[in-house]
Amino acid sequence: MEKEIIHRGTAKFIMAVDSTEQMEKWWIENPHAIGVAMVGRSNVGKSSLINTLFGNKTAKTSKTPGRTQKINIFKFKIHNEEQDFYLYDLPGYGHAEVNKSMKKNWEALMHTFFVNLNPHTILFNLQDARHPNQNTDKKFYDYINPKDFSIFLVFNKIDKLKKQKEKAALNKLKPQIYSEFKAVKQIFFVSAEKRTGVDALEQSVANYLFSRLDLLKSL
Ligand code: GDP
Repeated sequence: MEKEIIHRGTAKFIMAVDSTEQMEKWWIENPHAIGVAMVGRSNVGKSSLINTLFGNKTAKTSKTPGRTQKINIFKFKIHNEEQDFYLYDLPGYGHAEVNKSMKKNWEALMHTFFVNLNPHTILFNLQDARHPNQNTDKKFYDYINPKDFSIFLVFNKIDKLKKQKEKAALNKLKPQIYSEFKAVKQIFFVSAEKRTGVDALEQSVANYLFSRLDLLKSL
């Protein structure tokens, strides 16, 4: 039976942030919000993983280009905890098709998100297991590396790696990633579609969220 730490289907959509003012206001009003932010190239499976972890239909997998430019914020509960936790579904990076003004808005919004981001939010960087470490991923790490964030690097779509050789090659990348990108705290191999590896990921997320909660309670 599926182990459930995050209460499936209870994540509630709060708002879609599409301006830097709105984003700043959120962080001013919620300085101690504990949560998870999903970031990655378009099409790596962010929505699918959100739906697997938080319950179907939390994120829409078929998205309009307009929606992908927004930061969608949800709240959710875990285990027996009264506290609300927050999920940030960030627009995918590495769009080839967006026009210049959309790109500018996107950059400003993402920047406002990251400069104000508190240490109680874990960043999930999703990558396609078949195409790790693409140029846009490297650019993202160049941007994020000097900052003091924690990243869970999640290689999704491992069901697409048919050969043992491909899996071994990905595994071999681990030490290099840990030494090059200090923000990466843990690396996971999952399939959002087949649920492979999702229980371990969920347990680690819960551990992280609880540790932040304990820390805040002790202050
Ligand atoms: P997003 O743009 O990052 O939010 O990506 P989506 O969640 O919309 O997924 C993009 C495509 O990849 C969809 O067609 C999904 O069905 C597919 N997909 C997502 N996760 C997996 C997975 O674990 N395995 C496979 N084979 N396909 C997946």
